[in-house]
Amino acid sequence: MQTYSHAILTWAATAALPPATRIAAVVGAVLPDVPMIVAFVILKSRPDWSWQLFEEYYERPVLAVPTNLLHSWFVVSLLALAIWLWPHPIGLGLVLGLGGHAIVDTLTHVSDARPLLWPIAPWIVRGPVSYWEPQYGARWFFLFEHGLDLLALAFTGLQVWQRFFRA
Ligand SMILES: [Zn+2]
Repeated sequence: MQTYSHAILTWAATAALPPATRIAAVVGAVLPDVPMIVAFVILKSRPDWSWQLFEEYYERPVLAVPTNLLHSWFVVSLLALAIWLWPHPIGLGLVLGLGGHAIVDTLTHVSDARPLLWPIAPWIVRGPVSYWEPQYGARWFFLFEHGLDLLALAFTGLQVWQRFFRA
């Protein structure tokens, strides 16, 4: 799923939680894609930029290690265990955001799926649909994803309106 969709949907899905936990959840939902976004910006500014260059870096440890780490169900489970033992509102938000991102990405990546339990096992579970590969349903998923984004934005707008104009 697109990084902005992770942020929009997480913000809407955590409406019942305290603000600090909610903001942390959005940070957690965006964080797994930050290494890739940073790599893209750096590589795009190079004179030899090409998508092939990006794909090459996608597999290199400098990008693959932080990306795998932040998308790993194993790592998220360890963090969830830590938050269960030592509860903290911001930690809870981060774990919710990271966990939601890991689950959604597992369902929406096919040829670029990440090792589920990295680094303890190399298993790669391919999702039923890809958010970007047309041969794996990306066209209808694009509509579904952005439809959800619009619903979530409408819900957030309604909440803001109720809070500030009907108080
Ligand atoms: Zn991701």
